[in-house]
Amino acid sequence: MSSEPTTTDGSVDRATESHELLIVGGGVAGLMAATFTARAGVETLVVNDGESVLNRNAHLENVPGFPAGVDPRLFGELLKSQATRNGAAFQSVRVTDLAGSLDEGFVATAEADDASREIHADRVLVASFPDADFLEGFDVDVREAGQKQYVDDDSHGRTGVEGLYVAGRVTERYHQAVISAGDGAKTAITLLHDAEVPFYNDWVVPEGYFTDRGREVPPGCEEIDATEQQARQAESRAAMQEYFAEPHDAKQRTHPSLVDDDVGRVDFGE
Ligand SMILES: Cc1cc2nc3c(=O)[nH]c(=O)nc-3n(C[C@H](O)[C@H](O)[C@H](O)COP(=O)(O)OP(=O)(O)OC[C@H]3O[C@@H](n4cnc5c(N)ncnc54)[C@H](O)[C@@H]3O)c2cc1C
Repeated sequence: MSSEPTTTDGSVDRATESHELLIVGGGVAGLMAATFTARAGVETLVVNDGESVLNRNAHLENVPGFPAGVDPRLFGELLKSQATRNGAAFQSVRVTDLAGSLDEGFVATAEADDASREIHADRVLVASFPDADFLEGFDVDVREAGQKQYVDDDSHGRTGVEGLYVAGRVTERYHQAVISAGDGAKTAITLLHDAEVPFYNDWVVPEGYFTDRGREVPPGCEEIDATEQQARQAESRAAMQEYFAEPHDAKQRTHPSLVDDDVGRVDFGE
């Protein structure tokens, strides 16, 4: 598959930028999907413009692993950090148009700071709740519901257009972070299967788990020994202590109609 072209000075050539996978929307579903695809070795770019609606939540108390809840803005940062560690790249741009096909490649029009450019991609995963305007040129069913748009799929994330996938709330599945995260993962695995990229469920196992049974370690998986396990657990503890050492500094959001600010920012006066 293609890779990001560079100019002679090593910087990314924005004029002919090309990726194996473009994920539109860096909220819960898009970031979770990116963790799976990048981890599987698919070169993945996530583009995002605006904020996850989760940033309007005041304290997130029903995602797995946080018995006393978690700041939703910190939760978003943790998802982004996880996707980054697994190899995904990010750009803050808005996709306003998409064209192409699996055979010819997809071309997204991306806008930021009044400038527009093309991003080419072999495959596209749409996780851009509540916006699906840019799918206008495709034969996909989009349900309009006020300012929201919901895209029809086969319940595994396939839109009916080969190479074009969808995940998260924009599919109209239940409006919960854990559902969107799971849906991002599910669509990512569907895409990996369709692209014939090897995926196996047991990512990291103790030394000998496969090999002591005479089995090859499956693609994308690894066996680690006790020393490596301790090192990873120490790094994990240190990272989480740092993330949770101070209150998160992102501002609380509320419904945009309630404040004089287009992202619905609440000023607590701090
Ligand atoms: C007030 C409130 C409270 C909530 N409380 C909870 C709760 O307690 N528990 C819970 O589980 N869920 C809660 N939710 C629901 C949860 O936030 C959503 O279900 C979840 O965020 C959906 O994930 P998503 O990835 O589909 O969409 P999002 O997380 O919103 O991500 C979509 C991203 O795509 C970006 N985007 C959109 N269009 C484009 C485009 N054209 N180009 C580039 N980027 C684009 C958006 O700006 C956004 O960043 C709450 C929601 C709200 C509004």
